[in-house]
Amino acid sequence: MKNYNTKPLLFACLAMLFLAACDKPAEAEKKTYHHSIFSFGTIIDVSIYGVDAPVAEAAFEQLEADFQYMHITWHPWQKSALSRDNQLFATTEWFSDAPSVRPLLEKARLLAASSDHLFNPAIGKLIRLWGFNRAEHETGLPPDQEAIQALVESNPRMDDIEFREVRLRSKNPNVFVDLGGFAKGYGINRAMEALEIQGISNAVINAGGDLKVIGRHGQRPWRIGITHPRLADTVLAYVEVAGRESVFTSGDYERFYEYEGKRYHHIIDPRTGYPATGSQSVTVIHEDAAVADAAATALFVAGPDNWYPIAQSMGVDHVLLVDSKGDIHISPAMKKRVHFQVKPAKIMLSKPVLNQLPGKS
Ligand code: AMP
Ligand code: MG
Repeated sequence: MKNYNTKPLLFACLAMLFLAACDKPAEAEKKTYHHSIFSFGTIIDVSIYGVDAPVAEAAFEQLEADFQYMHITWHPWQKSALSRDNQLFATTEWFSDAPSVRPLLEKARLLAASSDHLFNPAIGKLIRLWGFNRAEHETGLPPDQEAIQALVESNPRMDDIEFREVRLRSKNPNVFVDLGGFAKGYGINRAMEALEIQGISNAVINAGGDLKVIGRHGQRPWRIGITHPRLADTVLAYVEVAGRESVFTSGDYERFYEYEGKRYHHIIDPRTGYPATGSQSVTVIHEDAAVADAAATALFVAGPDNWYPIAQSMGVDHVLLVDSKGDIHISPAMKKRVHFQVKPAKIMLSKPVLNQLPGKS
């Protein structure tokens, strides 16, 4: 009954590495260093190109510590700075929070607003109810409908949180912040900044297929595979990324269980309290990994009929959405970049998206 599917994450890592390895042997004199870190519930593969071994080793050591710190600090319910905030949000009283959490709350609030609250990290109680973070041996059962309904009606949102200098409070006791939809992106931004400070200018940080690059892989851009949402171990398409770019995908194949023949996955539509319908996967390219991460989640919820205005408002102009029939919806900017490996039956091109995001970092 329970069917956590972690294989595609591994596959996504391997796809990226495989494609990077396709580079010409002319680049062989420069070594690419790889290191894997387990954090945020996934394998984070760090690839560094064009430096000496001691520099890469020191960077790996630092990232190992940084990712463990971020994972612990931003955990929504295990003992952490964020879980303390969540307990205190329930009281609706004013309190002071930890500086390790505040910038995420502020950025998440902006992104939630620009996504019309389809990206809504305040629905942590709903997310816990669905229990996609349970251990593998536990049984997956859809939650009680009344419990879902009660949480949806209480309508917890990031703008229920008020900030007054170092203090904050939630006006809504049901606000429970789960940053699972964008903390990985935020964390990858921070980790990449740490690499750049150490003088590294060519690298990829790849967390289960969600990644950010800087620089190039020798003479060529980094080549990134996008996982096919329904064909196991298959690359749907690839894109080439260089400079400072992030590629994030939200998919219904990443965490799900099946119950009585129906698939229940981990991306929740805050308007219904149930897993979002309409999309199989959404891939976004954006410079800011936190924006790419939040937007992939939001556009997945928006679905094939509504993704365009949300992308526009989030300032995201590279979008590829695979809908529930397997058809492709794509923005013109993405269409120019993408190379399909499996030919889609139908491709629907949107109008261009104008960049409008407030707070782009
Ligand atoms: P992602 O894989 O980036 O789309 O993130 C999915 C994770 O984000 C889930 O496992 C939840 O922790 C959380 N989440 C689910 N639905 C939403 C939503 N509508 N808005 C924000 N976060 C969500
Ligand atoms: Mg996301």
